[in-house]
Amino acid sequence: MKFRAPEGTRDIPPAQAETAERWRNTALWQSLEAKVRECFARFGYEEIRTPIFELTELFHKSSGETSDVVEKEMFSFKGRGEKGESFSLRPELTPGTIRAVLEDSLLEKKSFWKLWYMGPAFRGEAPQAGRFRQFTQLGVEAVGSADPLVDAETMILFAEILKSAGVAAWELRINSIGCGTCRGGYREALRAAVTPELPKYCENCRRRVERNVFRILDCKVPGCVALSSLLPAAIDHACAACRGHMASVEEALKGAGTPYTVDPRIVRGLDYYTRTVFEFSSSSLGAQNALCGGGRYDTLVRDMGGPDVGSVGFAAGVERILLAMEQGAAAARPDFFAVAIRPELRAPLFEAVNRLRRAGLSGDMDFEGKSIKAQFRRADKSGARYALVLGPEEAAQGKVKLKDMLKEGEERAVSLDEAAAALKEGVRS
Ligand code: AMP
Repeated sequence: MKFRAPEGTRDIPPAQAETAERWRNTALWQSLEAKVRECFARFGYEEIRTPIFELTELFHKSSGETSDVVEKEMFSFKGRGEKGESFSLRPELTPGTIRAVLEDSLLEKKSFWKLWYMGPAFRGEAPQAGRFRQFTQLGVEAVGSADPLVDAETMILFAEILKSAGVAAWELRINSIGCGTCRGGYREALRAAVTPELPKYCENCRRRVERNVFRILDCKVPGCVALSSLLPAAIDHACAACRGHMASVEEALKGAGTPYTVDPRIVRGLDYYTRTVFEFSSSSLGAQNALCGGGRYDTLVRDMGGPDVGSVGFAAGVERILLAMEQGAAAARPDFFAVAIRPELRAPLFEAVNRLRRAGLSGDMDFEGKSIKAQFRRADKSGARYALVLGPEEAAQGKVKLKDMLKEGEERAVSLDEAAAALKEGVRS
């Protein structure tokens, strides 16, 4: 029997597997990950890692009972043992991150943290292009500040990540969904506007009126989109403080030269957002065009039992960024590939290979008993700059032959130390 990966999951093999989908290769992933890490560091963010599963209740408390993610997309299971608690694979990383911040009393050590994460998330959605059941999120949580500049900074940071990844086709839409003071009034205004037209909305939206009326704004059903475009906008119901906050965010984005548009339809699917919400999307993706979503969540830390501090963050789909990237990435080239001219020279060659590796060089040799010709073919395919050849003559002199794969035919016999120095030099040139 042949096994297949579970539906909605994808393997990421090495580049040389040459899969039909360009994004499915670890060379591309590693090159993006390195760029992303460099951007996070430049913006003063530090990494945090949390478990891939948490108590189910954590997600109910934070992401919210009425969010699609919690309502119908979580992979939940009963724990073993007496307690029989319910656990869920994380559908997003914010709840676990905030739990970790509180559990390790981070805010007692420093009142403001800029954290980043990258790792798998799980949602039981119907798989389609760009939508998986296991996918990878990278994101940030800036915990402990109500400053609108931090909202802007997270967006500027993600724009920088896209630039460094080579994603040119993107747009940023922002909105404010108000705070505890003004959100209630907006909720009522929305309900009042929706109720007379209710039968025309889809079944989901009809349920949402009572449970979470804001979600009607991001319903994707065409009929609902047409109806909800006429609904009142949050910013028109925002209190003076929320309006001031939004104005500062916009000013900071303009100052940084980060293009954006204000879109009253951006409400985000999760319950914990306050004030600023935003989404990055890319026209080079298909129906699943969202690259990144985020916003401010000024009450979540307090609601989870922590201090009353403001926070803002975003989460982006790594697969989506890779899909939107214009350039691929080549596999890393080793410094050398070693060739044994006779089978009995494989052992001393193996020794030489390991000495070069200990000297900091990267390289490999044949482990399949291939012919000399096939070994050279492998050397060529590996992309190595040099072939390191061990024949009886070199072995007798305690030397190896270095063959420059770029300059066809150019070869010289050198000691292993000389080879190491030449390889280092050649790799640099
Ligand atoms: P969300 O919190 O749902 O806005 O998710 C944040 C980002 O994660 C989205 O903008 C997508 O890029 C990505 N994402 C969400 N769900 C999936 C999925 N099922 N498969 C792939 N990427 C996803």
